[in-house]
Amino acid sequence: MIAAEREMEPKMSNKATTVLEAHPMNGGDGTYSYTKNSYYQREAANVAQTLIGDVIAMKLDINEFASSSTNAFCIADLGCSVGPNTFVSVENILEAIKHKYRSECMSSQTREFQVFFNDHAGNDFNTLFAKFPPTRNYFAAGVPGSFHGRLFPKSSLHVVHSSYATHWLSKVPEELTDKNSPAWNKGKIHYTTAPEEVVNAYAAQFTKDMAAFLEARAQELVVGGMMILILPAVPTGIPHSRVPNGVMFDFMGSILIDMAKEGVISEAEVDSFNLPVYTTSPKEMGELVERNGRFHIEQMESTSPWLEIKHSNSDYGKTLSMSLRAGMEGVLRSHFGSEITNQLFNRLCDQSGQLTRQLQESCCREGTQLFVALKRI
Ligand code: SAH
Repeated sequence: MIAAEREMEPKMSNKATTVLEAHPMNGGDGTYSYTKNSYYQREAANVAQTLIGDVIAMKLDINEFASSSTNAFCIADLGCSVGPNTFVSVENILEAIKHKYRSECMSSQTREFQVFFNDHAGNDFNTLFAKFPPTRNYFAAGVPGSFHGRLFPKSSLHVVHSSYATHWLSKVPEELTDKNSPAWNKGKIHYTTAPEEVVNAYAAQFTKDMAAFLEARAQELVVGGMMILILPAVPTGIPHSRVPNGVMFDFMGSILIDMAKEGVISEAEVDSFNLPVYTTSPKEMGELVERNGRFHIEQMESTSPWLEIKHSNSDYGKTLSMSLRAGMEGVLRSHFGSEITNQLFNRLCDQSGQLTRQLQESCCREGTQLFVALKRI
């Protein structure tokens, strides 16, 4: 397992060096690893598979790249974690591109494919590299660093993909932990059912982060290049407390509050902790893309992995608890320490039946995932 760490963003000629917060998923392939507990994200990627195939078939103009000075067709998966989901997504994208070449009567044989796997430097790249599919027919490289800054040379990528990663904020907005601010998030670890000021502080951070993300990708993608983003979303008119992330984070928060009431941790420790993740809406994403001005929205579609999840496994609260642990353990451990974090997740696992019920009763299932396909103009 990887301890939460701090990552230095590479020095860009036009930027100061900044220190970013990085909390990679649990590495290795043990019981609590992301590799073994990324079922939910896999379902999410499965839902997007057909959409990706279709949008590449219909909207990616490979003729635009024909005169490209390099023979390599370059794809990047941003926030790839340790696999295996990233390999499935990459394979799917490659298949769609090769199909496109065939349908345009162009040979993809002469094209070489290069895939860049990006995540924070603290990501367990060793596990990722060890699990590369033996049959892969692309060149592979790991690219460490934050996708909120530049990662690649100008105009060097043809397709960018990122699934369930861009909802991670680069940092927790400072005002959430400032007792004198109206956005002080007392007694909560997220913005669900929190005062409007708290929600606004989260939204403002997402706006900044997404602006930086889009700006960096606008420089790295060739004109005509495509970017596909899959991220959790809140449907218009639905409160955050009714989307899956809202329900799950609230549930985790209520366990921490119980632990504070029992004196296992202090209230101040809960008050000063906030999860650095944000769930956007189609409207908000659309506005951010428009504001950036360097991309055309080819497709923006609300979907849901929740409709696909097979409820035959009635204890999916347990599966989700393990997913939450694999994804959130690092960020919680850096604040509460290992022992408390362990206790929190053990309690979460013990109470997973209750989580299942809450998800069944209060969760809005449709439209909780956003598929966005953008073309660099
Ligand atoms: N795309 C994979 C992993 C999703 S988990 C899948 O669908 O299974 C989210 C990943 O995003 C984590 O590995 C996390 O470390 C990474 N991530 C979050 N913020 C990031 C950033 N600013 N730069 C690069 N990677 C980031």
